[in-house]
Amino acid sequence: MLEVDSFTKYYGELCAVEDLSFRIEEGEFVTLLGPSGCGKSTTLHAIAGLVEPTDGRIRLRGTDVTDLPPEKRNIGMAFQSTALFPHMTVRENIAYGLKMHGYSAADVEDRVEESLELVDMPDHGDHKPGELSGGQQQRVSLARSLAYEPDILLLDEPLTGLDRVLREEMRGWLNRIQREVNVTTLYVTHDQEDALSMSDTVVVLNDGQAQQIDSPERIYESPANPFVAEFVGKSTQFTGTVTHENGQAVVYNDEKRITLPDSSIDDDQSVSLYVRPEDIEVSPEPMGAENEFRGIITDIANLGNRAELSATLEDGSTALAHTTRFPDIDVDDDIFLRFPAERVIVL
Ligand code: ADP
Repeated sequence: MLEVDSFTKYYGELCAVEDLSFRIEEGEFVTLLGPSGCGKSTTLHAIAGLVEPTDGRIRLRGTDVTDLPPEKRNIGMAFQSTALFPHMTVRENIAYGLKMHGYSAADVEDRVEESLELVDMPDHGDHKPGELSGGQQQRVSLARSLAYEPDILLLDEPLTGLDRVLREEMRGWLNRIQREVNVTTLYVTHDQEDALSMSDTVVVLNDGQAQQIDSPERIYESPANPFVAEFVGKSTQFTGTVTHENGQAVVYNDEKRITLPDSSIDDDQSVSLYVRPEDIEVSPEPMGAENEFRGIITDIANLGNRAELSATLEDGSTALAHTTRFPDIDVDDDIFLRFPAERVIVL
């Protein structure tokens, strides 16, 4: 329903986005994920008609909208700063958007009330934005964007600036609303947890170029390249050159021998290896297995539902493992860490 086709944007000499193509199907929730300056907002603004592409086309519901002004595209937008009018009430803010989209006075009244119901704020219509919490302001902003039934909803870092608990709550809430109205959504964030927890599809961007377009699961479990592996989720990293022993592909990294999941990989290839923290098992005693290394615990962060444990291995490298919450071990303890060969990501 939205098709971004070879979108390129130069600001003078600077290439902000290069040859970016992706599609969003009707009702889908897609996230543009990448570090600051990678071209997310430029892409979003081009879809909204606020940035003129240097090259490429943008199609919405089969219509080429590349040369249409923003007001001729039926797009809803909500930003990090909610951009609500502070002197207007919540009701007036929502009504303003509807009037701009040509709704009649009678329809405006009905739609405002429906939108307030949708975002669970039926009793806040007479409040001014300044009287609301950050989360409530975001809800009003969303109500205003959804009230006129846009073809697509564009969300630019809407949860940035909210505290962690509220942010997690808002993720679930946003997903529920999105499914309820079945609005096609493009969400922009630098936060990998937002992306992984909310999206049907994630477009990972770096330096204006798409790195991987995939489901959250595949982005995390099968990253396309080292950038994606390192940007999306934590891991323990090793590098080395592939050799084969008894038909088994292995990598020697300093003193460590690491067996790989797939033996079909060629000899002499330089590879980067990544192991996710939840795939590393920790024990105070040796487990007598392949891919097992001795280390000393340097840090234990109790996260409530689990602990994140950092250890220095014998060669000085660092490993990161998740264990059960409040594990019975301490900083400076000797431990053994192991991971199954099939959980090693090879890039
Ligand atoms: P993101 O949203 O991922 O942080 P942006 O799309 O805002 O990235 O920016 C991409 C690149 O384009 C950055 O290098 C940024 O400095 C540059 N840029 C963005 N807007 C402009 C502009 N109006 N003029 C010149 N350069 C810009």
